[in-house]
Amino acid sequence: MPHWYNGQLRILQTVLRETDIIDYDARSVVAYMKKAHANVLVVNAGGIVDFFHNDVEPVHFNPFMREEQEILSDLCDVLHAEGMKIICRVDFRGVQKYRYEARPDWFARRSDGSPKQNHQGLYVPCYMSYYANEHAAHFIRRLMTRFPLDGIWENSVAFGAGMCYCPRCRESYRAEHGTEIPAEEEAASPSFAAYRAWRKARADEHIRFLRAAVKEFGEDKAYVAEVFGMYHAQASLDSGIDTYTAEHFDFIVGVGFLTGAPHGRPYDELPYAASATRFLKAIDPKKTTVLLTGNNGTKWRLVKDPALKTRMWMWEAVAVGANLWNCLFNGMHPDATYDRRNAYIESDVYGYLEKNQALIQGQVPVREVAILFSKPTRDMFGHDDEEKDRYGVGIRGLETVLNDAHIPYGFITERDLSPEALADVRVLCLPNCACLSDGEVTVIRDYVRGGGSLLASHMTALYDENGKIRPDFALADVLGLSSTGMVKDTSQDCYQMIRQKDHPLLDGMGAERTRFFINGGETLLTAPDGAGEVVATYVPIIPNQYPEQAWIRDEDTRFPTVYGHGHGAGRVVYFANNMEAMVYRNGHEDFWHLVHNALRWLSGGRWMLECDAPDTTHVHLLKDRDRPGSFLVSCVNHLAGMGRTVHPAAACTVTLRLAAMSGATVKTLYGEDGSEAAIINQSVADGYLTLQIAIPEFCEFFSVYVGAE
Ligand SMILES: [Zn+2]
Repeated sequence: MPHWYNGQLRILQTVLRETDIIDYDARSVVAYMKKAHANVLVVNAGGIVDFFHNDVEPVHFNPFMREEQEILSDLCDVLHAEGMKIICRVDFRGVQKYRYEARPDWFARRSDGSPKQNHQGLYVPCYMSYYANEHAAHFIRRLMTRFPLDGIWENSVAFGAGMCYCPRCRESYRAEHGTEIPAEEEAASPSFAAYRAWRKARADEHIRFLRAAVKEFGEDKAYVAEVFGMYHAQASLDSGIDTYTAEHFDFIVGVGFLTGAPHGRPYDELPYAASATRFLKAIDPKKTTVLLTGNNGTKWRLVKDPALKTRMWMWEAVAVGANLWNCLFNGMHPDATYDRRNAYIESDVYGYLEKNQALIQGQVPVREVAILFSKPTRDMFGHDDEEKDRYGVGIRGLETVLNDAHIPYGFITERDLSPEALADVRVLCLPNCACLSDGEVTVIRDYVRGGGSLLASHMTALYDENGKIRPDFALADVLGLSSTGMVKDTSQDCYQMIRQKDHPLLDGMGAERTRFFINGGETLLTAPDGAGEVVATYVPIIPNQYPEQAWIRDEDTRFPTVYGHGHGAGRVVYFANNMEAMVYRNGHEDFWHLVHNALRWLSGGRWMLECDAPDTTHVHLLKDRDRPGSFLVSCVNHLAGMGRTVHPAAACTVTLRLAAMSGATVKTLYGEDGSEAAIINQSVADGYLTLQIAIPEFCEFFSVYVGAE
């Protein structure tokens, strides 16, 4: 029996500040939600500061809460009267000094026995502490007994969850490992896998414990908690809580703000909203997927985020099947806060979701190309600072090519890698996917032998899942070459020499008119087995300075940078450098074309979706997870997001190649000014329906549903 949280969720969260309770008016919140087409409110209950008349000691009331005021009661009444749901935000990240002093044994300890405080001066608990468990469960039970809530949002579950030396942690670690918890400096090192596994297990236990407290009130009470995105390597290493933790939640929620960009950048790339959603879909495609974002952002919380970019951010997420969560950090609602300029900008995105939920809610990305997300590789080679990141940037570069070329793709996590998961995948991509287990290697080898295609680069399969280096690629037979172990810095003044100018991997690159292509990053020197095709090779550094001596005697090496190979019934392309990452970091078109040509060559034919739109129009293909013959084509105009005014996307033609269908109809779900998509042509041959759809000019977003006739 499906519960409400298995359906569509259009969430408004108001993270209230203490002063926001003054003159709080539940009716005006609901009025905003109705106009914005929201159906769930997430609002503060308590933890650090209580927004209700809590009697679970140690309490800390909001000093502005009046005696007769009970906003949660008011909200439950008006929301439920409108058929809307209410989830309460609880936050057990820490307490004020006086509360700590009343119960010092409920909290975390440093190795010298002193209490742990966070940057905000709060005294923090650990995953095993009484405060975060028994107390938190008691608090939640009391809350849910008092008010007819529909669920609990555990905020900041991973905050300040660094090392702890409280008696409970010490005993648990000793019982499991027979040794003491390592010193703080040591445990930060990657070699402490055992410690991190222990901590992750405690984090999971804690999550399960609080979930159980919520579920005492019925299966239809939702439990969700805050986890960060796929690239947040440090948050995961520090806390043991990762996006995978979302499997314990009733719906899959991931944090993805436009202003949640990687270290050192104000705004993220717009496609990341879709990328994050694709990743969440891979965690559990059966559950509702929600991207937690916000009109007013998360960095400069008192002013709006760039308005047009914010809309494009939402459209990108929605285009690949996300539901949305609009999180506001001050004020009663987006039209009653400091900066109201972005109030209601989500209304037509939410309205689109609401109106079309029957057709779009079960849609998941079509995965002709699958990117393997390897958490062990992310933990070892990923970094929050893109300059130091050696994993996430490769995924981002690969996605740039996939988005630019309108190729249908999605993620597979290493936990789900299996012959079944790969059944419909035409090209599996392993961008510098260094850490692979023997089991994963076997699945990949069988997949290629059976006719699957593989794109791999740089250190792929050179380490095991625990980060231990292997003597050679575990996939050496599949890749058709061996590692020499030598890595060259090719970030400056480096090139790739063309060896086979007519090879399809160099299509359209003008190979007949150049000796070299650009190189970048690092290049691993490898020894090919002789059965494959060396398409380009590593060239030693040719310094630019001084110009008269900018030449070397021997440009010729035997080390491939681009290597094509057959294995069993499958095809393989191996890049010895960080080719995909260079698409993102460097942006030179040689990198782009080499990756794109590899994908094309590996596909062995045409994609399920092809489109003549330029790369500024992103075209996403989704299919219904439950209903065969049911698809969604969503277009997002990135020209619009480049400036402060919208520049329309030109009309284009989408061609779909659909198996086991004899005819189709289309229905425009979102366009501009009543413009509609139309079928230009459809024909059946070799068991495939070829369907040509004309997409008219549009401004931000266009969406068309395709159904079997
Ligand atoms: Zn502890």
